[in-house]
Amino acid sequence: MRIAIVTGGAQGIGKGVVLHLLGKGWKVAAFDRDDEALADLAAESGSQPLLTQAVDVADEDGMAHAFAQVARWTDNAGLDLLVSNAGIADPVSGPIEELSLQEWRRWQDSHVTGAFLAVRGAVAPLRAREGSIVLMASTRALQSEPDTEAYAAAKGALCAMTHALAISLGPDIRVNAILPGWIETADWQKASARSEPEHRPIDRTQHPVGRIGVPADIAGAVEFLASDAAGFITGQQFVIDGGMTRRMIYAH
Ligand code: NAD
Repeated sequence: MRIAIVTGGAQGIGKGVVLHLLGKGWKVAAFDRDDEALADLAAESGSQPLLTQAVDVADEDGMAHAFAQVARWTDNAGLDLLVSNAGIADPVSGPIEELSLQEWRRWQDSHVTGAFLAVRGAVAPLRAREGSIVLMASTRALQSEPDTEAYAAAKGALCAMTHALAISLGPDIRVNAILPGWIETADWQKASARSEPEHRPIDRTQHPVGRIGVPADIAGAVEFLASDAAGFITGQQFVIDGGMTRRMIYAH
């Protein structure tokens, strides 16, 4: 049985990845700081092999404890996949001249420090099974709306970490980044926060594929990148955005 850790696995894209992998027969540990969302996930996953760990990915001691729990749960069997996905999903940090250092650090901690601690904890068990890593970046590493510097910087850092890690950890461990575009997650939240997605027609039609993304669009790519079919792919960035970053947007 293949074994994965997914951070931020209790809601949104991470939850989509967790349920997809469970459905494909994987054993999955979901790390998330939201207890209520983790409890919902555990209930939804039924009797499938899921371990939930309540942890903030930027908390060094908490992450060490969570990795120890996974090692115990798997009898030190190692790891096939780490999906480092947790982070503040809101890209808007506000005008740069009003952004406090403390706020700036919230984005860097959850995305960049969280990825560092997740990768550091996963390297030894991944080596044992020649596993792979997927870092969840964003198309906002490549292009921007105003007032999104903290998020853009964090996602750019993850893209740089991807190639650095691929060189450091190869040939044992492959490392790739996924850069999602607009992925609708309103209906992938914990029950108390769930809502029906509402979109304007233009939200859909502006995408070259004619729709907004869903967590399954990312989960399928994660599964592929973790598979032997992707054995020659490392250090790469995969934009999954329905073609939005390929659209020329000069005003007419
Ligand atoms: P989401 O808010 O729906 O889910 C994120 C989950 O991560 C939540 O369960 C939350 O509790 C958890 N989390 C957040 N910070 C954490 C921390 N410090 N420690 C532990 N858990 C933490 O978000 P999402 O939209 O599914 O986004 C998931 C990832 O994908 C994020 O890295 C986000 O930046 C990225 N992303 C999302 C989109 C999108 O359109 N949804 C687009 C590009 C990139």
